[in-house]
Amino acid sequence: MKVLIANRGEIALRILRACRELGHSVVAVYSSADRDLMHVRLADESVCIGPQQVEKSYLHIPALLSAAAVCNADAIHPGYGFLSENAKFAREVENADMTFIGPNADVIAQMGNKIAAKQAMLAAGVPTVPGSDGAVNEIVEARRLADEFGYPVMLKAASGGGGRGMSVVTTRDEMDQAFQVTSSEARIAFGDGTLYLEKFLERPRHVEVQVIADGAGNAIHLGTRDCSMQRRHQKVIEEGPAPDVDPAALEQVQESCVRACRQLNYRGAGTFEFLYQDEAFYFIEMNTRVQVEHPVSELITSIDIVQEQLRIADGRGLSVHQEDVQIKGCAIECRINAEDPETMLPSPGKVELFHPPGGFGVRTDSHLYTGYTVPPYYDSLIAKLITWGETRELAINRMQNALEETIISGIKTNIPMQQWLLNDIDFRSANLNIHHLERLLKAGRG
Ligand code: ADP
Repeated sequence: MKVLIANRGEIALRILRACRELGHSVVAVYSSADRDLMHVRLADESVCIGPQQVEKSYLHIPALLSAAAVCNADAIHPGYGFLSENAKFAREVENADMTFIGPNADVIAQMGNKIAAKQAMLAAGVPTVPGSDGAVNEIVEARRLADEFGYPVMLKAASGGGGRGMSVVTTRDEMDQAFQVTSSEARIAFGDGTLYLEKFLERPRHVEVQVIADGAGNAIHLGTRDCSMQRRHQKVIEEGPAPDVDPAALEQVQESCVRACRQLNYRGAGTFEFLYQDEAFYFIEMNTRVQVEHPVSELITSIDIVQEQLRIADGRGLSVHQEDVQIKGCAIECRINAEDPETMLPSPGKVELFHPPGGFGVRTDSHLYTGYTVPPYYDSLIAKLITWGETRELAINRMQNALEETIISGIKTNIPMQQWLLNDIDFRSANLNIHHLERLLKAGRG
């Protein structure tokens, strides 16, 4: 196959590597601010698709489709972010007789609407967070439901994503304003102000199940990841398998995800995200794409998720059966962002020196190189460090070495924050919940 990678940064490089390993050729696309990206240099062909603004380049469907047509690409890999969960894009790719590396457009649309996704999960027997049965269109209805479930509750945008379009409502007095503000913010950000309501869970963990499926009814899961370390609903550290999960609940939830994939005729890699509290799982959303934290699952299963995506797209099906999937040891991922560790504001600029860590069980997914300039226009993720260990403790100790060895000079990074987080006593003892990091930050830790 000839695969066009409709993305940039570390994930574009990650996908290029998998394509090469399987003998596929690669077309890179880039904005005019991204000429010097590592994967652009390595690709068989590359096409400039527009200026720095994402709307005119990485989000510009006609530019991507014409680049694919000019290069005679057979398939498009969307990576994560950008157009990866855009049903219209998936449909247009298929209409142009190319393969979209992901599920079909209808499934993307269904899962992209969080209300429809919750309903599909309920139908497949997957437990969801208690809340409204569908959309909440009126403030009075929101008030009535909040009284029924008890405060605090969460108002969430049906089309929300990336940690945006949600608000916590702690008292009745706050409801009217929260409803109006969240709805209008969602309308502006996602073009859809539809809201739904959920019980706000006070101390859950974020636990997710990785799946892969061939679109012909074969589906397997690759175990769990815990992504409870979050700031502003954005993941900071991920690990797998999720520690201390009730074995019976775990087995049940994994099976129900596989069942849901079969019912949806799901194709490709996907993630079912849950909140986990008091030994119970509550579905919150499904991501119909490869995720930032997929290497965690790769290190504990030895299965290359991006290769599986490519195999499925190429009609070769899954390379493994469920019985072949063995979870071995523990893996942890730290997201390294180009940001000031104090203010957490982006810190783009020229990388004077880049020295990645090494050693057994250490993986670095990064597009950085010495002399590369991190442009200010895109996400600040510049590297992912992933370590594996026979035990959780060993994986964490290895990560501490890896962070210490890493040199990224010329720009600021969040490595200092990652270092103190790994030393946090609650993190070390796997006493996790999604509010933990924000509470630490508020208390002035770091
Ligand atoms: P997004 O698509 O924007 O990532 P999610 O629905 O996956 O939104 O939620 C992101 C994060 O928000 C979760 O990982 C969790 O930290 C928090 N969250 C979502 N729903 C709830 C809830 N009902 N109670 C408490 N926290 C929640």
